[in-house]
Amino acid sequence: MKRRLFFLSLALAFSAFLFQSFTIDWGFFGHRRINRLAVFTLPAECIGFFKQNIDYISEHAVDPDKRRYATKHEAVRHYIDLDHWGTAPFDEVPRKWIDVMALYSIVHGITANGDTSILFLPDVEMFESKTVKTSLGKTIELAAYKDFIYHEILPSYYEEERPVDCAKLKSNFPSLNLNFESAYVSEEFSSYGILPYHLLKMQKKLTKAFEQKNIKSILRLAAEMGHYLGDAHVPLHTTENYNGQLTDQIGIHAFWESRIPELFADTDYDYFVGQAEYIEKPQEYFWDIVFTSHSYVDSVLLIEKRMKESFPKDAQMCYDDRLDRTVQVQCKAFAAAYQSAMNGMVEQRMQASIKSIGSSWYTAWVDAGQPKLDIQSDSNIAKDAEDEKLDEAYRRNSIFGRSH
Ligand SMILES: [Zn+2]
Repeated sequence: MKRRLFFLSLALAFSAFLFQSFTIDWGFFGHRRINRLAVFTLPAECIGFFKQNIDYISEHAVDPDKRRYATKHEAVRHYIDLDHWGTAPFDEVPRKWIDVMALYSIVHGITANGDTSILFLPDVEMFESKTVKTSLGKTIELAAYKDFIYHEILPSYYEEERPVDCAKLKSNFPSLNLNFESAYVSEEFSSYGILPYHLLKMQKKLTKAFEQKNIKSILRLAAEMGHYLGDAHVPLHTTENYNGQLTDQIGIHAFWESRIPELFADTDYDYFVGQAEYIEKPQEYFWDIVFTSHSYVDSVLLIEKRMKESFPKDAQMCYDDRLDRTVQVQCKAFAAAYQSAMNGMVEQRMQASIKSIGSSWYTAWVDAGQPKLDIQSDSNIAKDAEDEKLDEAYRRNSIFGRSH
């Protein structure tokens, strides 16, 4: 009996692990499907190139998730915990990355005798008043402060240690008469997610790749942009309660974005999403997606809670065969009931993802001057070192940061 219990718990633990590795974001299935369908939203002028490479674009839709196994900097690009920072309209969350760094960087100064203090005291009001408070009682000009952040703080964003050049600090702010021997910067914003900022960065990179007619880059970036835009359409990618862990609803993340699409996306969903459109203001456009997603968070959580209470308990979870393993997943009838109680939200967010991905690609191509892209063979898109590195990291199966 004991032995059987042991094997049962081992099997359960393993299935939980396996289930976990199947269920990140829209799931591998969902992301690939979304990227593939986005190709068909493109206008005639540029659909040819994408159609020629549709397999690459679909297959590589999941690269950003694989990269979460390779670097700790990746996970935060997939979400933003808006509710950590406040409530709509989220004035505490600057829309521009430079403003985020200005508001949330903490510059610590250390004197000769080892005393450490925080130098700048930025707050949201500084954007109005155009001045920044300091711990020394004096204020400085916002423009000078942002200039310092831009040149001295931003470039070290990915560094393990982030020392600040003390001489620069003193020469940039002579009025403060600083007596620091050394200084360093820390920052806590990023760990709550940077998805909308990353979308804008990706849009610029994709545009550049089109300008340079760099086929491999275009394809890689287009595929990855598809991934991040897909994530941005998922309500649970915009909340601190991303897996229902704060409301006793653990597992809801994969239920919403992997299990439901996997059950119904092929058979029940309608994919007439219309043609891709030119995005006039990418920054606003990306933020709107994230805010719309966030507006659904309450429904996603409350409806599932209600369903769990009202649906027969023994008909909620079922066993399912994956590869040669058996895993526990939500039963089809239970998933269908949740889906219809949400009025087709999953389908609608999937459709919106598809259209916005096509629009992002199309916009990058237009902004790059509508380059003519003919490729005769796929030799340029053979697996390279970067692909190998991602696959290798993914096979090792230990993720950096949160798994959702
Ligand atoms: Zn993701």
